[in-house]
Amino acid sequence: MKRYLWIFFVLTASACSLFSPDLEDQIETFEISTFYHSKFTIANGTSIVKITVSVLDENNQEIGTDQIKILHNGIEVAKGEKYFDFITSEPGTHEFQAEINGVFSNVLEVEARPHIQFETVELPLIFHVPESVVIPRTGRILREWVDRVNVYFNATYQNKHPNSYSPNIRFRLATTDQNGRELEVPGMNTYPSEFESEIKYQQWMWNYFWHPDYYINVWIGDLKREAGGYATYPELPFEANLEGLRSTRTTSPNKLQGILVETNFLRNAYISSNILQHELGHFLGLYHLHPCNVNDFAEDTFGYTDEPGLTCNDISLDSFNYMSYERDFNHHFTYSQVERMRYVIDHAKWIGQKRMRRNIPGVANDDFTSEVPRLVKPKNLAVPRIVD
Ligand SMILES: [Zn+2]
Repeated sequence: MKRYLWIFFVLTASACSLFSPDLEDQIETFEISTFYHSKFTIANGTSIVKITVSVLDENNQEIGTDQIKILHNGIEVAKGEKYFDFITSEPGTHEFQAEINGVFSNVLEVEARPHIQFETVELPLIFHVPESVVIPRTGRILREWVDRVNVYFNATYQNKHPNSYSPNIRFRLATTDQNGRELEVPGMNTYPSEFESEIKYQQWMWNYFWHPDYYINVWIGDLKREAGGYATYPELPFEANLEGLRSTRTTSPNKLQGILVETNFLRNAYISSNILQHELGHFLGLYHLHPCNVNDFAEDTFGYTDEPGLTCNDISLDSFNYMSYERDFNHHFTYSQVERMRYVIDHAKWIGQKRMRRNIPGVANDDFTSEVPRLVKPKNLAVPRIVD
């Protein structure tokens, strides 16, 4: 009797495996990846890398959720889940792999960069505004623009993107003119409106160009719908050259350096901070993430096609980077972009650095009341390298 029972069990067991094959044999696709397809994070104990696992059978149906394990450097960190939020304070390469009954996915490498807290610095802006555009609340609008830009340049959005990093760069409206006199409206100078439509880095602008060692110049003008703004790239001394930027031996400014913003943004009191922060990114040495054949000299950004939302390796992925053109949704600079801007701030010429403040918390008033040296117009203005 016992013997018959044993045979019955054996028959039943083999019948089961015959009609429902083992899970591991059904796996057609087994992939571990990150939500943003970015392998970079910051080792700051707060940035979150969203790791996801996909297990599909031959019909592209999700399978095996119950049995799945996620391994971090070979150690199990999640079981029965296809998602894992990775947060670390350990710089270096972290390896992730998923496993189901002895079957392994690809290996995912996540690079955690050391958390460097950059000292906060603050640079002065002077807006050159056409006279006809100035109204009583122009000063307030400019202040709102700069306040908004300061939020973007001093925030991290780790919950939205693990590789988002704060530049810790602030901007302020200049409070004194080149003679050391207090400005009537902080951050504002005016120029005759007849020049408004001749604004694209032309010769006359030299007369409304404040010494770029002491101010960042922002001209407001009619850009004829070609772009919302333009910026010049920074230049560096030869001994501190940086890939992708010009080096120069010239010590005295020989070309216009600064940013252009379309007048309509000011006229309609539209928050142009999306434009302004993008152009300030260029002004501090950053490139676009598009088109695909452009090297932006930041190893942790994605290359994008000219079509918003499509990466150069055909992943459909919104950019969310200030240096792409999907401006309305953008929320971050990456770690490598921040490193680049900070290098430029420490080494570049003509970015308003002589009136830059360091460690600004606690400093309430602008104490730069002295005259600045007179800017001498060169015989021939050199042509600046610009980008929109
Ligand atoms: Zn641009």
